[in-house]
Amino acid sequence: MPPSILKIALDVPLDRLFDYLNGDHLSENRHVQIGQRVLVPFGNRNQIGIVMAIADSSDVPLEKLKPIAQAFTAETPLDAEMLALIKFSADYYQYPFGQALLSALPARLRQIAPAVSRKQYCYHLTDAGIAADVEQIPKKQKVLRNVLATLQTAKQLTEAELDEISGTARKAVKALVDLGFAASEQVLALQRVMVTTPSEAPQLNDEQAHAVQTIMAQPHIFNAWLLNGITGSGKTEVYIRLMQQVLQQPDAQILVLVPEINLTPQLEARFRSRLPSFPLVSLHSNLSESERLHHWQLAQSGVAKIIIGTRLSIFTPLPNLKLLIIDEEHDSSYKQQDSMRYHARDVAMVRAKRLNIPVVLGSATPALETWYNATVNPNQASRYGLLRLKQRAVTAAQLPQIDCIDTTKVNLQHGLTPQLITALKLRLQRKEQSLLFINRRGYSPVLLCAACHWIAPCSRCSSRLVVHLGQRKLRCHHCGHEQRIPQQCPSCGDADLHPTGHGTQRLEQTLAQLLPTARIARVDRDSVSRKDALVDILDKVHRQEIDILVGTQMLAKGHDFPNLTLVGVIDTDSALHSPDFRASERLFAQLMQVAGRAGRADKAGQVIIQTQFPEHALFNALRVQDYESYADVLLHEREQMQFPPYVFTALLRAEANDYSLVQQFLQLAFAHARSLSEQVLVYDPVRPQMERLKGMERGYLLLQAKQRPALQQVLKQLVTLMRANKLANKVRWAVDVNPLEF
Ligand code: ADP
Ligand code: ZN
Ligand code: ZN
Repeated sequence: MPPSILKIALDVPLDRLFDYLNGDHLSENRHVQIGQRVLVPFGNRNQIGIVMAIADSSDVPLEKLKPIAQAFTAETPLDAEMLALIKFSADYYQYPFGQALLSALPARLRQIAPAVSRKQYCYHLTDAGIAADVEQIPKKQKVLRNVLATLQTAKQLTEAELDEISGTARKAVKALVDLGFAASEQVLALQRVMVTTPSEAPQLNDEQAHAVQTIMAQPHIFNAWLLNGITGSGKTEVYIRLMQQVLQQPDAQILVLVPEINLTPQLEARFRSRLPSFPLVSLHSNLSESERLHHWQLAQSGVAKIIIGTRLSIFTPLPNLKLLIIDEEHDSSYKQQDSMRYHARDVAMVRAKRLNIPVVLGSATPALETWYNATVNPNQASRYGLLRLKQRAVTAAQLPQIDCIDTTKVNLQHGLTPQLITALKLRLQRKEQSLLFINRRGYSPVLLCAACHWIAPCSRCSSRLVVHLGQRKLRCHHCGHEQRIPQQCPSCGDADLHPTGHGTQRLEQTLAQLLPTARIARVDRDSVSRKDALVDILDKVHRQEIDILVGTQMLAKGHDFPNLTLVGVIDTDSALHSPDFRASERLFAQLMQVAGRAGRADKAGQVIIQTQFPEHALFNALRVQDYESYADVLLHEREQMQFPPYVFTALLRAEANDYSLVQQFLQLAFAHARSLSEQVLVYDPVRPQMERLKGMERGYLLLQAKQRPALQQVLKQLVTLMRANKLANKVRWAVDVNPLEF
């Protein structure tokens, strides 16, 4: 018999598989399958790997091959669909396959101990039990009769369900087993389902009904649908109807991607109350390692029918995936910003296409790439269907009134216009709530010397330190560096150092002075770093214990506050004139979202925007909540400038302690890339706006092409060439395909 050789993917930065002997000395090894987790010796320690192929020969001489140390054959192997999806992604994003694969697994499965899963017994009736008559059991044995009767209607009961019948139901079911009426099997334990009161389904309006019908007209083939509707237009209701229909197919599973873990509890509760009979699990980074493993296994085994997850969950094995939904598809958190820099929306598109299932993208302000695919893409094969919800679902809710206040024409009080202050006072009188929104980027308070204009810099980044008055500290928001607030200016010795700029903390203090009776809460990275802090604040808002919420974009998303009638937008002008060509797209999306917070129920809302450019096209479109016209303006600009989605781009990023190494590396890559293809435009290496980060000097090379395949080919060859070069070990480098940030 030829030796059996396992080709194994390992979490190492080399784009290849490693050969091992199966080591038939262990009997369980005979059952090793593709996708199985194994433990193998690598270097001087053992590592977890995944079997990718079983062969009878190797390029390595047999006597040099080592046997695997252990095979976890009791576990279900990873399925071919998941492995193929990760293979595709690793190739597309130019990342080593083994690393991509291992990092898609729950942490517990990357650890050496076998993954223990939470199991419980589940009971069903035998043929004798099905035929049995409850009257055969003496009347006195109430619980036994009850359990038998329940089993006859419910078909099967878990231990948890038995506990609900009676404290002695487990004993009773064992008696049924002894009688030959019931049998047990071990199944993955489903976590206790949050008890929610089932809620009524509203009657769909015409646009919603049309959306559901159109998508469900072809439930078994790949189609991408853009569901475009403002907040409150009833997109989630459409998802629920689609889910109800798809879940009619036996064993069907649905994956719903959400941008942030903060949003999952609300959506979870809503899905549970409307789809109470379908097991639901969530997958996100706020779960403990064991919860995450358990939820993942429930998904992998097909027990969980609805999976709500953040970007990484796109790689979850789902044996019977029938529908993919991506909520807030424009959100930039779908793009991973380190390791394999995938975009979950793009991976979802590939997955849906391979499985031939529909994918639904929902957004009030679609990403321009998505809008392009739904409206202008001349290539019919990659065209999305466009479904629009133009009205708010609850007819009483009106669109907010949007006023832009020209800050160059009024006197500001601590950064606030008189109009905004008056509007805040009015809300206080009426016992209504307000939200003040600050665009985080660049508007944190810095420490300024009044005498020489020195501004406290970070020693490790090209950035300024942010003043945190509460802790009397200066902190870098890029690298986390912290220091005390100095007594004197290090540059001129003057003691006149002041925080300047409106951070959320400053604004909170200003408001407390201007409106002493107001109850104010601040929401930003610092105030809600604790796991449940945001939930606590949101609860308080719901209980009307807060009058004014101050915060960054964390507040913009998905929260429904019926009594909130005023939104103030403090400072966004920097994004209007940013060198980043996506800044205005992002700002528009954010402002549409915050504007959507005002006046959701029956109360009309008002939005006050303070700006130096009240006539900007962005604000004009926002005033009439017209995503479409602004998207068309932006698309036109992108076409003129030859930016995505009219071209495809990739970055080669590099960093090192010493910039000359970065320069050498990028120059070499530049020369290679230029020689590889005439269809790919390669720009000179440049430095990003943030030249230095965490003590590292940074630079990048931009590649651009009209056709994706041409770019992919160059990248593949370029990466191979660069990996082979000595310089590649002296700098930290990565490829970023379809980068969102420069
Ligand atoms: P979106 O997801 O677009 O923000 P939702 O689906 O959350 O919108 O709907 C907003 C509100 O309107 C929710 O309270 C929802 O229950 C309600 N709603 C949705 N569709 C309808 C409808 N057809 N009739 C009445 N109320 C609806
Ligand atoms: Zn000074
Ligand atoms: Zn720093």
